[in-house]
Amino acid sequence: MSWFFLVLVLAAAALVYVQARASWWLAFLIVWVAAAHLSGAAGPVATAILAIVFVLPALVLTLKPLRRAWISKPVLEIFRKILPEMSPTERDAIEAGTVWWDAALFSGRPHWDTLLGHGPAKLTAEEQSFLDVECQHLCDLANDWETTTVWQDLSPQTWQYIKERGFLGMIIPKQYGGKQFSAYAHSQVIMKLSTRCSAAAVSVMVPNSLGPAELLMHYGTEEQKNHYLPRLARGIEIPCFALTSPYAGSDAAAIPDVGVVCKGTFEGRETLGFRVTWDKRYITLGPIATVLGLAFRALDPDHLLGSTDEPGITCALIPTSHPGVNIGRRHWPLNAVFQNGPNSGKDVFIPLDWVIGGRDQVGNGWRMLMECLAAGRAISLPSSNVGMAKIAVRGTGAYAAVRRQFRTAIGKFEGVQEALGRMGGNLYVMDAARRLSAHAVDLGEKPSVISAIAKYHVTERARMVINDGMDVTAGKGICMGPSNFLARAYQQVPVSITVEGANILTRCLIIFGQGAIRCHPYVLKEMAATREADHGKALRDFDDAFFGHVSFTLSNVVRSFVYGITAGAFIRRPQRAYVPLVPYYRAATRISTVFAARRRIDVRAGRRSEAA
Ligand SMILES: Cc1cc2nc3c(=O)[nH]c(=O)nc-3n(C[C@H](O)[C@H](O)[C@H](O)COP(=O)(O)OP(=O)(O)OC[C@H]3O[C@@H](n4cnc5c(N)ncnc54)[C@H](O)[C@@H]3O)c2cc1C
Repeated sequence: MSWFFLVLVLAAAALVYVQARASWWLAFLIVWVAAAHLSGAAGPVATAILAIVFVLPALVLTLKPLRRAWISKPVLEIFRKILPEMSPTERDAIEAGTVWWDAALFSGRPHWDTLLGHGPAKLTAEEQSFLDVECQHLCDLANDWETTTVWQDLSPQTWQYIKERGFLGMIIPKQYGGKQFSAYAHSQVIMKLSTRCSAAAVSVMVPNSLGPAELLMHYGTEEQKNHYLPRLARGIEIPCFALTSPYAGSDAAAIPDVGVVCKGTFEGRETLGFRVTWDKRYITLGPIATVLGLAFRALDPDHLLGSTDEPGITCALIPTSHPGVNIGRRHWPLNAVFQNGPNSGKDVFIPLDWVIGGRDQVGNGWRMLMECLAAGRAISLPSSNVGMAKIAVRGTGAYAAVRRQFRTAIGKFEGVQEALGRMGGNLYVMDAARRLSAHAVDLGEKPSVISAIAKYHVTERARMVINDGMDVTAGKGICMGPSNFLARAYQQVPVSITVEGANILTRCLIIFGQGAIRCHPYVLKEMAATREADHGKALRDFDDAFFGHVSFTLSNVVRSFVYGITAGAFIRRPQRAYVPLVPYYRAATRISTVFAARRRIDVRAGRRSEAA
């Protein structure tokens, strides 16, 4: 009989491994019980017990009406009770953006050939020339020391060059006078600028990120696009985007700033619009912006727009010359000299036409921001931090070669080599993440999870690289001056950690919250089923998702075990992989499978807290 149980365990493991359907289980168990009986291993009573214990449950699982009534229905009720109510804002945050190859990585089955099939990103001749000529010239014009000690800003000549040469319109289509560069080219430009001057990189990065060209391109009315995009592309308008308020940072959907729908006078005519009151802080380019992208909560107590009292978060473009717009005193974010500051307004009347996308987009601001944030986040911080780390690695490596102590180049000491090795290794990983996330944008994705992973890990590793660099350069890194290539980065690394979703929040809510939900093949479907109003459909959808989930989890547990005891030797070899690297692909697949089997799903996560 023990042989029969061994067969049962091995066959069950194999069926779990391949995620066999319930009908396969039923067929196998019938054959197994019959074989036990016919071979004499099980007498009539034992056969009856085996049939009740094994075949009957398999029969219930195979017959969907029974399975739904006896198992899925009570489980669905439990899910309905334990899943927290989700507001539309939270739902928007979870559902925003797209998942791409990251889904395979989270699900334990990474398709390496799919990834490798995309090939490396390339620049067009025009993009390469811009990088070699214009971007190089801008690097010659601006450096950290002068912008900080002489101008406390970019020099007027540098600003002029940035505007004239189209640096502010890299993402704007050619038809509006922009450069229409690929995400990869945009990333290369930001990376290069970051090796020279953080103020230049940030001043170029922000208009090409969230605001507000990206929003206009996706949601603006034709009139708004025709007016603003050419002006933004040529630097006639300097934009900023204001979401963060003193009371709402990470929890950006909780902004207290309001716009009440009302009639007012605009250009001498009675006009429908908003009376807006706001108080924002930390706004990059705010002190010099000519057009303010503003997020506020729309209220419509008199139902002038529709039947809803609170249409929700709304984004508008307000010229900063508009009466009532108050640009406050400039902030000094860790003494970085890119322009940053607060702005506010009280009961400022703006016409409805200033809402991005017009009347149709009133109340859709949160979704717009969540959708567009992913693309910017995939490029800005990963690129600028890789640039910063590149100069740190290059400079520190060179310094370690020429600086001598104990009659020896310090780079020859093992302790220093350890730090240099760590710097190089981190930089390699960071650059790979940067290329991958930019590439995802070029493929048309809005990679909410990959961009969060890239933002978090690139900035965290940049912090490690800079710290190592400071240790190696020692006094030379500490005393500031024109040739100090590290101190400004050391000073400003917390800015990168904080903006576009502070890192702790990004890891908890976006990578493990939104990531776990969006990249999982079944969790989002289970959650959707609990909210479905049609009970029949809810039960059917939930049943499919729930049993898919169970089979998926068990399969990953068995696969983790099998991969563990075989050291992953039988994991399929990616056809496109460079042969010496195959063990690493197999190791990564193992890690992915274990991760998929072990992670806990925090259904509360992935909430509204993606910040600007
Ligand atoms: C230099 C600079 C430039 C900026 N530019 C802009 C801009 O142009 N436009 C704009 O609108 N905003 C801008 N910001 C604002 C920026 O987006 C916010 O600073 C950021 O969202 C964090 O908000 P906070 O500083 O209030 O920190 P808080 O929200 O107070 O967070 C404090 C800490 O708590 C953690 N935390 C918060 N909630 C959670 C959670 N649920 N789970 C785990 N951890 C959590 C955070 O990770 C952080 O570590 C800028 C900020 C700076 C410093």
